Amino acid sequence: MTADGTGADGPIRQGILDVSARRPLGLRNYVGGEWRDVEGVGTLADVEPATGEVVAEVPLSGAAEVRAAAEAALAVQPAWRAVPPQRRARAVLALRDGLLARREELVGLVTADMGKTLEDADGEVGRGIESVESAAAIPHLLKGETLEGVAAGVDVELVRQPVGVVAAITPFNFPAMIPLWFLPYAIACGNSFILKPSEQDPRPAQLIAEVVDAVEEIPPGVVSLVHGGREAVTAILEDPGIDAISFVGRAETARIVAEGAVRTGKRVQALGGAKNSLVVMPDADLEQAMPAIMGSAFGAAGQRCLAGSVCVVVGDESRRAEVREALVAAASGLTVGPGTDAATDVCPMVSAAARDKVAAAIDRAGSDGAEILLDGRGDAGPAGTVLGATIAAVSDPESELARDELFGPLLTVVEVDDLDAALDFLNGSRYGNAGALFTSSGDAARQYRYSAEAGMLGVNVGVPAPVAWFPFSGWKDSIDGDLHANGTDAVRFYTRSKVVTSRW
Ligand code: NAD
Repeated sequence: MTADGTGADGPIRQGILDVSARRPLGLRNYVGGEWRDVEGVGTLADVEPATGEVVAEVPLSGAAEVRAAAEAALAVQPAWRAVPPQRRARAVLALRDGLLARREELVGLVTADMGKTLEDADGEVGRGIESVESAAAIPHLLKGETLEGVAAGVDVELVRQPVGVVAAITPFNFPAMIPLWFLPYAIACGNSFILKPSEQDPRPAQLIAEVVDAVEEIPPGVVSLVHGGREAVTAILEDPGIDAISFVGRAETARIVAEGAVRTGKRVQALGGAKNSLVVMPDADLEQAMPAIMGSAFGAAGQRCLAGSVCVVVGDESRRAEVREALVAAASGLTVGPGTDAATDVCPMVSAAARDKVAAAIDRAGSDGAEILLDGRGDAGPAGTVLGATIAAVSDPESELARDELFGPLLTVVEVDDLDAALDFLNGSRYGNAGALFTSSGDAARQYRYSAEAGMLGVNVGVPAPVAWFPFSGWKDSIDGDLHANGTDAVRFYTRSKVVTSRW
């Protein structure tokens, strides 16, 4: 599957997970180096999107469980902070080795729990491991700054120190990668870390905690796992022991978390939703562009924050007709099926409720005059989660399909006369996460790069995910807070700077 090894030759430890069946025997919290049953506020069924089978009960933690994790984190943090950064880097590398050894298992769980294809899940896990690797450069990344001789005998130095206890609250769509954006940087900077994964697909996070548990270089309490939903999030916001929150999810939840964090005096980075445009210029090579557009719009059933959900076609009537025809032809050739099937292009959505929400928006748009060029609202599959690739052309650029994040395998076509109009359309979005331009003109590419209001852009690239050594996030309502995930932004978020002025 991958060049750097699937871990098939590494020892697979039998623990919380029954490896042979890829089924958890029970989801539990991991706090202070122990697996703990959760009293909490109830449980939720973990349903596999492809089959509808209930595979686990997700414990919903409340304030008591969050408090326990915060106490364990607080108790160990002073000692962890004192561990030299080179040794913390080694701990992060040991975590990487542990993840590589269980890579195949993690990939299987991502597919089973979230629904995406095994190939996509492998890409996700690979990206997560890259984040861990990039955080291992921490001794270099943490270096401070000095300015000598600002006055007679006076020097100034800036040092970076950990924030303390940080929590991450993560979404369903990348259940392995997004926890791994935050965990390695947070602990490499000398913080202790609490993960609250999505309650919709928590099994990959449980496996990551198992890997952490096996890494001797990470002391008990430095990393905790707390399962739960919004009650756990409220408890994280209210807990006095937690100093900073990294969040990824819908824009509405990001705002709740950001406002709650500000109210309780916590540092926050809250990455929100997206509605990304793929602009197809008159000079774009359609043969090259179509596979990229298909992968962007319909890969992971459109449930990526980098998914292109609007195709902005630039050109005259005949070009518009040509692009419509090419889009429909390419999307008609996509195979809908379970993530475990190697032929699948469009996987099931995460839940029947998510699928029905997108189908209902297509129904409404059809009644409002949108042209449904390709209709995926057929057989919803055994779990009611399947929606085939759907393409709808709208004449109103402010319609629901053109502006709202629907997060499914739905591509909206908007047609405009020139690049300026395309930029006006995409910059009119409340979101600014990502976008892509397909062109053979360097001039158009430059204008796009200069003017597009989004944090991650692609030129002839459909899913412009930055590699882990660069910050990851968007602009506008796609983020509350300013510092992004990964790279130097992560180090700035997880540390406080202190400036010391000395006279000798
Ligand atoms: P979500 O907002 O429903 O859930 C995210 C987290 O917030 C979960 O852990 C959940 O338990 C918690 N939560 C949900 N509702 C809450 C509430 N009312 N109060 C407190 N906590 C709550 O998001 P999701 O559906 O799991 O994930 C998909 C969303 O994430 C999409 O909008 C997608 O664009 C976004 N996303 C953004 C990025 C990015 O980089 N900007 C990356 C991935 C996903």
